[in-house]
Amino acid sequence: MNIQTNNMIRCKNCGRLIPSESSSCRYCGDELTNTSESKVSVSERNSTAKKRKKTAKFIVLGIFCIVYYNQCHKYDGF
Ligand SMILES: [Zn+2]
Repeated sequence: MNIQTNNMIRCKNCGRLIPSESSSCRYCGDELTNTSESKVSVSERNSTAKKRKKTAKFIVLGIFCIVYYNQCHKYDGF
């Protein structure tokens, strides 16, 4: 059974395969919530936000270091 199930999801209510794009089951009319998918996307968003925050901190720290280093060198040079 090599049925392509990439774009298909199983209805929780009736258990039939329906296109993942559909918002409701075509067989039983049950509304699709896709809780597992939404959970994954939320966690992904959180992780990316954390990464962004970290990188932003590093960028600020790097700029601060560069400015501090340049100022030190200025005082050393003159
Ligand atoms: Zn259904």
